[in-house]
Amino acid sequence: MRVGERGVALLLGTGCTARRAIVEVAGPTIVLVTGIHGDEPAGSLVTDIPTDIQVVGPVNNTGKRRKNGVDLNRHFDGSNSESDRVLSQVLKASPALVITTHEDDEVDSVYAYASPDMAETAKQVLRVVTGDIAAKAHADVTDDGVITGGRQPYAGSLERACEQRGIPYVCVETPKSMPIKERVRIQTAIINGLRQRLVDKR
Ligand SMILES: [Zn+2]
Repeated sequence: MRVGERGVALLLGTGCTARRAIVEVAGPTIVLVTGIHGDEPAGSLVTDIPTDIQVVGPVNNTGKRRKNGVDLNRHFDGSNSESDRVLSQVLKASPALVITTHEDDEVDSVYAYASPDMAETAKQVLRVVTGDIAAKAHADVTDDGVITGGRQPYAGSLERACEQRGIPYVCVETPKSMPIKERVRIQTAIINGLRQRLVDKR
């Protein structure tokens, strides 16, 4: 089975392949990747998450966006050994979902980038977690806070690497203009909400 296929099958829940896949695994494997950008701390400060979520990170603990001058989230294309190492860790888990945490200093509300198969779930979770949802983020208009198209996912991003492998993803963006405590609360609630919905779909 190709990496990522199991995840898609689990989410769609249709056909013989999917049914077999569901029997094979105890539950959906979720990988949480935090702190790819070192100056976006909220996701790395999340502590209250279920133990069945595999955490990779904080990836970049330099306190700066770039690590050794490199934006790791533009190098998940085989062009950087550090990004390669993170991607291998993620792929090893055969994830049904990859959640990445980021923060935005230009947008003042919460939003998410999601693979199309996760868009509806991400919208539901955002709606429950906060009323402060971005209508627009950079050049993209959101659909109830969720962006699936436009220029996304960026070339070299972990989300693009997931897309290329058919792995569902949600990239959570909290605004740096919010108090850190609230950003951590929102990241925590979104991670838990996404997990709960995947578990319920089993
Ligand atoms: Zn970021």
